[in-house]
Amino acid sequence: MIVAIDGPAGSGKTTAAKMLAKRLGFFFLDTGATYRVLTYAALENNTNLESEEELADLAAGLDLKIDDNKIYLKSIDISKEIRKPRIDKNISKVVSFIKVRKVMNSLQREEASGKNSVVEGRDITTVVFPDAEFKFYLDAAQKIRVERRVQQLLKEGEVVDSGEVEVDLVKRDEADKNRKIGSLKLTEEARYIDTTNLLIPEVVEKLFNIVKSKK
Ligand code: C5P
Repeated sequence: MIVAIDGPAGSGKTTAAKMLAKRLGFFFLDTGATYRVLTYAALENNTNLESEEELADLAAGLDLKIDDNKIYLKSIDISKEIRKPRIDKNISKVVSFIKVRKVMNSLQREEASGKNSVVEGRDITTVVFPDAEFKFYLDAAQKIRVERRVQQLLKEGEVVDSGEVEVDLVKRDEADKNRKIGSLKLTEEARYIDTTNLLIPEVVEKLFNIVKSKK
């Protein structure tokens, strides 16, 4: 069974999806992390980040493993490395290439199919698992999404300017919504959940009850 969770940055989807998977005893796939691994590999290999072909080839041979919420490249745990600013700076170009996304979508399907999985990312209910048993779209007011991102960065020890965070978030929203393939989209079949006034455990409770009631 696939539980697919879509939504913009700061909607709380990654944290909620991870907690939901734990509660349900399901495998958890953070698809953003898979794109981060590819970006990391590209930087390590000096792949030309402007080349769709080179990046798609790299994606096709990506030796990636996910285990217990850790992510490995060629058996090396790079869970922390993929969260560094150098990945954030270079990832938007990598995820914009159609050929790259096609290869990564297959990889994501392979990772999550055939078992009970919670899969999270910006095109999961529309492109990767359009036939998922459960489809959710998490959202929140822009102000709250900015505040959540600020808090997350502070927790990671980063120096934060909330104005800059807001500009960056609006830019990411635009890029995610306007991408030619795999864009962020709310479809009619996805259940919309506004998390503006909810704490993460409340979001998880809501998702859990819906999945449990229909399982
Ligand atoms: O969610 P996270 O910030 O880790 O995602 C990293 C990057 O990958 C973002 O730029 C996001 O737009 C992109 N992404 C994507 N498709 C997904 C998941 C993430 O393009 N399914």
